[in-house]
Amino acid sequence: MGEPLRLRPRLEPPLASLLDAGPFLHSLVDALGSPLNVLLPERAAENARRFHAVYRDHHLAGRVYFAHKANQSGSLVRRLAAEDPAAVGVDVASLGELRHALGSGFTPGRIMATGPKDPEFLWLAARVGATVNLDSRRELDQLAELVRKYALPRVDVLLRLSGFESAGGPAEPGVRLLSRRSRFGSPVGEVGELLSAVERHRDAVELTGTAYHLDTTGVAEKVRALERCVMVMDECRARGLAPRVVDIGGGFGAGYVADAAEWDRYTTALTEAVLGTRPALTWRGHGYGLRNEGGTVRGNAALYPAYRPVAGPGYLAELLSLPGPRLGRPAAGLLLEHMYDLCAEPGRALVDQCGLSLARVLDVRRTGEGAGEYLVRLGMNAGDVSLEEHGVLVDPVLLPRTGAGAESGAGPVGVYLVGNLCLEADLITRRMVFLPRLPHPGDLLAFANTAGYAMDFHAHHAQRQPVARTVAVVDEDGSWRWCLDEDYWPIPHSGGAFA
Ligand SMILES: *Cc1c(COP(=O)(O)O)cnc(C)c1O
Repeated sequence: MGEPLRLRPRLEPPLASLLDAGPFLHSLVDALGSPLNVLLPERAAENARRFHAVYRDHHLAGRVYFAHKANQSGSLVRRLAAEDPAAVGVDVASLGELRHALGSGFTPGRIMATGPKDPEFLWLAARVGATVNLDSRRELDQLAELVRKYALPRVDVLLRLSGFESAGGPAEPGVRLLSRRSRFGSPVGEVGELLSAVERHRDAVELTGTAYHLDTTGVAEKVRALERCVMVMDECRARGLAPRVVDIGGGFGAGYVADAAEWDRYTTALTEAVLGTRPALTWRGHGYGLRNEGGTVRGNAALYPAYRPVAGPGYLAELLSLPGPRLGRPAAGLLLEHMYDLCAEPGRALVDQCGLSLARVLDVRRTGEGAGEYLVRLGMNAGDVSLEEHGVLVDPVLLPRTGAGAESGAGPVGVYLVGNLCLEADLITRRMVFLPRLPHPGDLLAFANTAGYAMDFHAHHAQRQPVARTVAVVDEDGSWRWCLDEDYWPIPHSGGAFA
């Protein structure tokens, strides 16, 4: 089985101390079943403040909009609604998310509607006065038509742009496209026509800014896009429009693995395993996108960079300090000189360290093949903790049922984690996971830091297995208080909870 290749999770307060509360977490699963999601709404508020502190460092005004799609929970959105209205907003990408944000206490001026929108979504956004981040020229026409037809108030709109290229003008043959193609947003090369349309629709919409969202970790691509947005804003002002915000989208990322050396060791070993120079580390030799072609590793590892020295607010600080490629001025300086506000839409980064997913160990056995491999069957399936879906590799934390410490027994053991579906492919992760000892039925495995996209994005009702319930927990003077996610409000209970 080789040496234990661990990928221990990055744990900060209060998530770290929650994981120390084994008996509390066991009692929650006893009462509410497995799987179970546990959220820490206070940490989401803390994360928003950390983002905003970066704004302040650069003397920038504007809101941090939580990208709701990262998590469906009510407690996170309600807790964020209780933050400073001038500092924290919410980015909604569906009619359901918009209704949820309104019902959670976000006033429309703090709500940004993004993504492609159906007419009902557009109507409600316009009706209440949310900002519409326009995805396309067609959406602009549709919105203007709705506003006129139903006598709605004039709508604040941002133009989401995409297809940023190195030359700054329309892509010519030979111009290297430096930004990945996106099926969202309007091509920046066609911005002239788009602005003409905005002018024609002036009675229905007011252009308040430009936007982009690039699904990449590449900071150079982002500073290029930011600079281009500022240049488009200049063009707007030359036309007599008065935009005032640049929305730089999300994608600030989160670090999942605590230790750089563990991450390096693991990714190196994965390459060696693909080449066959060491035993497989994964179920049936799965290569995470890598393959062996005649002794050479080919393909791209479809892995999230789980160890990240710079992520979240730190990544924003880096982006704001980088000079744009055309004007040569740091991004923050560009915004400040023009007196533009900054908007950001962090999803994953805003819910970093905000929760965990628990699963009960149901069965432990060895496969009949060869030397045999340990299979640990959990009361959860791959949809309930979809870290693997995003290529996020990180070890779960073993929470023993009995007083016996997690470290007791014969020492680290490699196991495969299989789910509760009658499906060969239902593995929680295709990676062999090293636990401090072989788990027993009744123990819990805790997957840390799952609030972003992992705990409910891919959950389903296949085989009528239960979908995880979600609870919110708050540390109250050193003891954990909990309630169902849907019952959470950011005010003290009569008994003093959630003070
Ligand atoms: C998904 C999304 C985000 C959030 O992205 P993260 O990578 O989670 O920060 C922000 N804005 C838009 C438009 C999105 O689609």
